[in-house]
Amino acid sequence: MPALLGEQSASTASLAHVERLAARYAVPVEDALLIAINLHGISSDLPRHRARVLARLATAPSVPWQVIVPLNAARSPFRLQDERLTLGGEPIARIERIDADEAVGGYFRDGGRAATLNPNARSRCVGCAFCPNTLEAAADPRLSEERELKELLAALCEQHPRGDLTELREITVSTGCFERERAAVDHLTALRAVLSDHSIEARIGFLTSVLRNEAAFEELAAQAAPFILRLTAECFTRRDLLLKASKATLATSEMARVLQRALGAGHGTSFTYIVGLDDLDALRAGVTALAPYVTEFPNFQVYQSHNSIMAGLRAEGAQELEFYLQARTTIEEIMGSSGLRPAAWECYRPLWYFTFAGESLVGA
Ligand code: SF4
Repeated sequence: MPALLGEQSASTASLAHVERLAARYAVPVEDALLIAINLHGISSDLPRHRARVLARLATAPSVPWQVIVPLNAARSPFRLQDERLTLGGEPIARIERIDADEAVGGYFRDGGRAATLNPNARSRCVGCAFCPNTLEAAADPRLSEERELKELLAALCEQHPRGDLTELREITVSTGCFERERAAVDHLTALRAVLSDHSIEARIGFLTSVLRNEAAFEELAAQAAPFILRLTAECFTRRDLLLKASKATLATSEMARVLQRALGAGHGTSFTYIVGLDDLDALRAGVTALAPYVTEFPNFQVYQSHNSIMAGLRAEGAQELEFYLQARTTIEEIMGSSGLRPAAWECYRPLWYFTFAGESLVGA
């Protein structure tokens, strides 16, 4: 595995720097710190290249945040020692838990009201230049048959906080591995049948770019609704370079039409986007084109580099916290009037934590 770098950045070398940037962009210092942790990773004596970390910030300890970061980012200004996370030597958070971030068959979010299924061996999916899959330990199954989906649901039920999957509001199918539209539609139809057998009425969310045609969305409306398309846009430029072929074949200019087709069939719509791969002009143009056709706030993730090759794929300036604060302001300008707002539990590397355009996102 290539050496993990992490990058020392002038803008995040000290808490005072982060505070100044937070003030300049009118964001809480806590939001700026969490974005910066996601950007730079954490330096520690633990050899983990990727872990789920539960952190409580010193200035806002009542809200725990889960971040998924490398713990061996040697040049990161964030340093973990025992339970203390420091920035430039100043304590900024207490780390409560560290878990391996394995690709597993399924897990819960939002206090058990949402589940993510990984039913098609996501760990074996490769091809997107930014994807850390090849770094992960794999414990995820490749499920193709109804019987196997049932077994996954039974296993999930045992893990559920209250042992009751009927309270699920959404089940997100997280896999990049359906290369063809037909296979995706068949899988979603089978999943709906299994959910119905268990009296689970949850909306199915699907992260994909292979569902594109009106006929597929109509079939899903008949067989798998309620359904939300979470279009894996990821980036608007250099798509051939950055994405696996089945994703790259979806042209940026086609994305809005795909969302419109899904909307036309009565589905919910959203998209995923990795902030740090496109320059800010391309980000603005792309998000502006898609914003009118989403029913949920899109999933914007901070781009995290795990090695020197991944670091080299960043847009100019995207190794600095300031780039992400500018992106955040841009997206707030575009999405603000939609009334849609980010839900932090939906995304592990978000740009928003405590506020969105000055509005509080965390319940008092
Ligand atoms: S589609 Fe790309 S980002 Fe998604 S799992 Fe496969 S390689 Fe990773």
